Amino acid sequence: MNRVSPQASEAASFQRQPYPLPGQTQASALAQPQPADKAAAGRDPVTAYIALGANLGDAAAALRWAVQALDDLPLSRVRLVSSLYKTAPLDTDSGVEVAAPGNDYLNAVAALETGLSAPALLDALQALELQAGRQRPYRNAPRTLDLDVLLYGSACIDSSRLTVPHPRMTQRAFVLVPLAEIAPGLVSAGQLEAVAHQAIGLFEDAVDADWTDARC
Ligand code: ADP
Ligand code: MG
Repeated sequence: MNRVSPQASEAASFQRQPYPLPGQTQASALAQPQPADKAAAGRDPVTAYIALGANLGDAAAALRWAVQALDDLPLSRVRLVSSLYKTAPLDTDSGVEVAAPGNDYLNAVAALETGLSAPALLDALQALELQAGRQRPYRNAPRTLDLDVLLYGSACIDSSRLTVPHPRMTQRAFVLVPLAEIAPGLVSAGQLEAVAHQAIGLFEDAVDADWTDARC
């Protein structure tokens, strides 16, 4: 399977493959998870939800590339991808919402069925961020690609480098809205209401998206 770099030209980009993936509705994909085709015997695959964001360079190309790259990870298959959303940069670290520097973000959430352990998945996500040119000059700096683990099955993880569920996911419309799109059972109406004041707009509907050739 070819991987397409974010720097590649638009023309050389992606075979059109609307999500949900062939043979799946969003509801059935979540209700009846199938084993990842590439999963090896041993570890039971889990569904991890990955938040994708970018606001530096060609953010749409970076997110499309990232979906393909997630699908190319060992023992892993992308099962669902949300629409792309456009949001203003927001810093919620202190618990108070503050405007963050940089351009508007593009955000999405992907459901990844994976046989990778949670630490191995984080390693893989950080390697992809680096591949996409991610730099961390300061906290909440604009980024070419940010990949966060929102959920890893039903696991609760609190290690020095990985906290799951993601500790700030419920403060962020740019996470909750796309997550609710692909996994409505995981987000409550109250959680959505709590972030309803945060501006978020649809950038590209998943149905129209030219994501990747993830199934080839
Ligand atoms: P941001 O919080 O803006 O996403 P970074 O992407 O730079 O910032 O991540 C900072 C650190 O957060 C990473 O080095 C990583 O170890 C840690 N981290 C803790 N929990 C998670 C998680 N659930 N997903 C991704 N990174 C996490
Ligand atoms: Mg991150």
